[in-house]
Amino acid sequence: MLFDNHGRKIDYVRLAVTDRCNLRCFYCMPEQGINYLPKKDLLTFEEIERLITLLASMGISKVRFTGGEPFVRKDFMDLVFRIGKIEGVREMHLTTNGVLTAPYVQDLKAAGIQSINLSVDTLDRERFKMITRRDEFDHVMKTMDSLLEHDFKVKINAVVMEDKNIEDILPLVEYTKSHPVSVRFIEEMPFNGEGSHYPKLTWTYKKILEHILTAYPNLRKLQDEPSSTSYNYTIEGHQGNIGVIAAFSRTFCGTCNRIRITAQGTLKTCLYDRGVLNIRDLLRSNPSDLPLRHALLDAFRQRPKNGFEAELTRAGAGVSESMSTIGG
Ligand code: SF4
Repeated sequence: MLFDNHGRKIDYVRLAVTDRCNLRCFYCMPEQGINYLPKKDLLTFEEIERLITLLASMGISKVRFTGGEPFVRKDFMDLVFRIGKIEGVREMHLTTNGVLTAPYVQDLKAAGIQSINLSVDTLDRERFKMITRRDEFDHVMKTMDSLLEHDFKVKINAVVMEDKNIEDILPLVEYTKSHPVSVRFIEEMPFNGEGSHYPKLTWTYKKILEHILTAYPNLRKLQDEPSSTSYNYTIEGHQGNIGVIAAFSRTFCGTCNRIRITAQGTLKTCLYDRGVLNIRDLLRSNPSDLPLRHALLDAFRQRPKNGFEAELTRAGAGVSESMSTIGG
């Protein structure tokens, strides 16, 4: 088993397979997009397979595919099948925006994906277009229906944004009455690719919860899993449930079990750090895995205690990354 310098078990990797996305959500990237990485800078499927095999041998058992949008990368499903065959990988999950996903739902099941996080900030078609700057709502909902038909465990990720989708919070809660999904409301984070920073956040997890309580006073707390990032609740008579994620307030760092690998192979031991290890270069310059294993262990021994400490390591650099390059 892998532990960091704070005694936290690390068993979960979030793997960004691309920095590209087919939506332009304004909280994630500028309208004109970001400067995408050239293909030669991305980890190849062979390199990803080698890396996950190594990580699995060290104690990582859970993999989440993220992007950008994973399905924008050519032959993404081939990679999923390959990773599913690696010894030690016991769980595979996917985060997708759902635009291109529907035709692959059966393949995802066959490959062994256990749950899917679908990014849906609103159930209103026009607001969806305004937030994502693309008219893809119908494709996303088609994916949602298909995932539920195929008995996938589905979580809806909804970023809560002042002046943008506050009116969508309650309809999303109501959606869980007739659909067996978990809707997770996420505090907005400072990664929009434009360097904007939110020193103060109005719609904190507490405020989101208070807002929901005004319409659903019978909200009942569920027991959260040990490394859960969301505070979870159930409502009597609803098939699904809801959760609130304090992504900006960072209240769940004490049990953080996750690392991130960006599409170009940079290790992030915290969402808020600047990247702590260039895995790609180590993979490309070493036929043996040993130097990379040592470098990874070193990085795990120097993890920041929490997202605030990690953010200090980027002081002066500003916050200009896009969530699309970080992998969510
Ligand atoms: S902010 Fe960093 S340490 Fe805290 S839960 Fe997120 S990734 Fe883990």
